[in-house]
Amino acid sequence: MDIQRLWQAVLGELELTISKPNFTTWFKHTGISSVENGKVTIGVPNTFTQAWMEQKYHQYILKAFQKLTENELREVTYRVEQSSVANNTRNVTSPAQTAPVPAAQEPVQYAEPQKQEPKNEFGINNKYTFSTFIVGKSNELAHAAAQAISKRPGEVYNPLFIYGGVGLGKTHIMQAVGHEIKQNNPNVKILYASCEKFTNDYINMIKTGRGKEFQDIYRSVDLLLMDDIQFITGKEGTQEAFFHTFNTLHNQNKQIIITSDRPPKAIPTLEARLQSRFEWGMIVDIQNPDLETRLAILDQKCGEKKYQLSLDIIKLIAVTVQSNIRELEGALNRVIAHHQLQGISPTIASTKNILATLTSTYPKKSITPKQIVSTVIQFYDITLEQITGSSRKKELVIPRQIVMFLMRQEIDSSYPTIGEELGGRDHTTAMHACEKIKREVDNNEKMRQEISLIRQRLYNEH
Ligand code: ADP
Ligand code: MG
Repeated sequence: MDIQRLWQAVLGELELTISKPNFTTWFKHTGISSVENGKVTIGVPNTFTQAWMEQKYHQYILKAFQKLTENELREVTYRVEQSSVANNTRNVTSPAQTAPVPAAQEPVQYAEPQKQEPKNEFGINNKYTFSTFIVGKSNELAHAAAQAISKRPGEVYNPLFIYGGVGLGKTHIMQAVGHEIKQNNPNVKILYASCEKFTNDYINMIKTGRGKEFQDIYRSVDLLLMDDIQFITGKEGTQEAFFHTFNTLHNQNKQIIITSDRPPKAIPTLEARLQSRFEWGMIVDIQNPDLETRLAILDQKCGEKKYQLSLDIIKLIAVTVQSNIRELEGALNRVIAHHQLQGISPTIASTKNILATLTSTYPKKSITPKQIVSTVIQFYDITLEQITGSSRKKELVIPRQIVMFLMRQEIDSSYPTIGEELGGRDHTTAMHACEKIKREVDNNEKMRQEISLIRQRLYNEH
């Protein structure tokens, strides 16, 4: 048996079920290291990857082997192997992380460089730590990667590229790594810069002949946190400067974390060489928080503010404000401030009133089961009779299950209620459907996108 070919075939199978960023991230430096007596050992680059393989992907990997070898291989284990693992680059877009970095060209010489101590840590928010970061389905991958990096900066994933919509915790988690690394080693030099700040620093220092100072500041750090890189779009001089900064730091195994509102490939005028560098390390996304995470966040924020709210009220806020965590916090602050000012205890009615004043920001506050059904059937172009009917056709079963999933996730409907809404189905059917779609969302990029589009319609149109 040609074991490398077998591994390629397994990867081909996995690619169908695992989202592209996850696939790229986890399977980049993997390979089969041995096959013996029906047992295959997969070599992985580090213990972090090993744990994820064991916890998240084992079943898929095992199934793929069983399928491809007609059950000849029945056992799969994982072992950390630093160097011997064949670099698997097939279908994995990123070049091997160990690829040599071209030497940075020296940029233009600048007149009269001025010496100045590098500035560190400006702008880091003291509250943005791991201990205040709630982990849920929507951000667990980003969280796990950030933690791994905190333990071994520059060694595990470099760069770490985190992307996701506004207000979902990118800046928070990035700065949490800064705090953690600083705590473990107070001597590290950390630099946090928004893309805007980087651009302004570059332009201002070049203009005033302080290019060397710019270099001194940005290229001498141990950890560079570059926030909202999407704004670098089109600014060519700045991209050049960032390219050299990146190379210098990366060459010295200095950790780089980058955030963006979208993946590198989707930043329209990002230079190809930067884009490919961003793909060297790990790319993770943060998604919209589900209801459970929103509840946990509100609960924590109440704790921080030492303000007690009943579960009913917390739920009301979490169900009303679904867009992002920043707005969720804003709504909570408003509810608290209002009641404190008035000197009254919050009730469902008074909270509803306050949330109603946020209507312009959250036009679609209370989603109903009917709205979920109608959005989904419009999306898939099927009828109400079809979705509530008994046909087991795949084109109908999946939308039906998605309705059930969304009713659970978005408005916390009970399983019996969900079954009822969908033509009087049993609550176990609803449970099964919710679990199934949940798994799909985790592993199937297409499903994830479809549900995200449905959610957008749901909240924008109602
Ligand atoms: P982004 O950079 O993605 O726009 P931020 O990191 O600024 O978002 O987060 C917005 C707000 O939401 C911040 O106050 C942050 O502390 C809070 N926040 C985001 N994610 C979480 C989380 N998982 N747990 C607790 N608070 C969070
Ligand atoms: Mg941010």
